[in-house]
Amino acid sequence: MRTKEFIELDERYGAHNYHPLPVVISRAKGARVIDPEGKEYYDFLSAYSAVNQGHLHPRIVKAVKDQLKRVTLTSRAFHNDRMGDFLKKLCEFTGYEAALPMNTGAEAVETALKAARRWGVEVKGVKNGKQEIICAEGNFHGRTISVISMSNDPDSTVNYGPYTPGFVKVPYADAGAIEKAITKDTVAVIIEPIQGEAGVVVPPEGYLRAVREICTRNKVLFIADEIQTGFSRTGKRFAWQHEGARPDIMCLGKALGGGIMPISAIVADKAVMDVFTPGTHGSTFGGNPLASAIGSAALDVLVDERLDERAEALGREFRAAVEKMPCRARRLVRGKGLLNAVVFEEGFEAWDVCVALRDAGVLAKQTHGNIIRFAPPLTITEKELREALSRIASVFARY
Ligand SMILES: *Cc1c(COP(=O)(O)O)cnc(C)c1O
Repeated sequence: MRTKEFIELDERYGAHNYHPLPVVISRAKGARVIDPEGKEYYDFLSAYSAVNQGHLHPRIVKAVKDQLKRVTLTSRAFHNDRMGDFLKKLCEFTGYEAALPMNTGAEAVETALKAARRWGVEVKGVKNGKQEIICAEGNFHGRTISVISMSNDPDSTVNYGPYTPGFVKVPYADAGAIEKAITKDTVAVIIEPIQGEAGVVVPPEGYLRAVREICTRNKVLFIADEIQTGFSRTGKRFAWQHEGARPDIMCLGKALGGGIMPISAIVADKAVMDVFTPGTHGSTFGGNPLASAIGSAALDVLVDERLDERAEALGREFRAAVEKMPCRARRLVRGKGLLNAVVFEEGFEAWDVCVALRDAGVLAKQTHGNIIRFAPPLTITEKELREALSRIASVFARY
């Protein structure tokens, strides 16, 4: 079958909850993907940063193959011989005392919200049912009913009521607004260190530090959603490290699965994590042996290939090059490491640029009408990056 027929199948039998770029990917390797006709593209989305280690990384693929000969799923009714090693590695990589494995990012966020609500009652002394959690306007934390109850994006929320109560929204990048919103019932503040889906919105320097300080002073948990920004994407293992603003709970997902399967987790120190007791939270697939083997290999690749340093260096080169490209409609280039966005003038249709980029052999997707995110796998080579940049320049010159 060819591209057109694959797209027709999706349209005919799939729910229409996405509007994908018209391109079909049938194979991939590293930073490149290939369509059914054999045309090759650079992947500048990386499945929203779930493929930081590159497509089909040989070490992660080997971990999958080895584990497939042993055992894949036990549920948490029994122990398995892979989860402990994975969680130890995750705790060492993140610098936290304990980890709780789940599957999707939205589940990690739900887990963090549950931990915070329970901590609020059992440690802080808030009355159950009164717990408040402060979140930021423009956030994206996933798609469950409770998680969209934090959102103010009409697409994510419209006609999905009734929404989960207990969330207080404040403007992003304004620490003073958080402090003002805190009451005696506030148990947590949840933010993305950089808002990814909002268009790679980087808060002013000092914001994360201020949020950390305000949370400490008011005995409120600081939850960082690092699902998109984590695992070396922004040039550090985690984006909070740019300001040394260590959260109480981190939500993790995406690249933890090495681009192979959904693996998520929260990490926290024992003082918080110990609010969970047997039977109070769980997931059939969370921490399964196959996921644990993959997660361990995914972390090994990040460390051994120093992907944080690569992201930092290549990100600088990317932004410098894109800022210099002739392009009338471009207003701004922003980001950290290899999580970057080009912002075009108000009202500009970035979709058209994405289609032109596709034709030139670069896959990227707009977020909102006029912003394009550029986030290739962190394993992209200098040579590949330069080739992709010259393709991007040839497209930008026309807009
Ligand atoms: C992708 C994302 C999520 C949700 O992850 P899913 O695996 O799609 O549920 C949550 N938070 C952030 C910041 C994300 O980018």
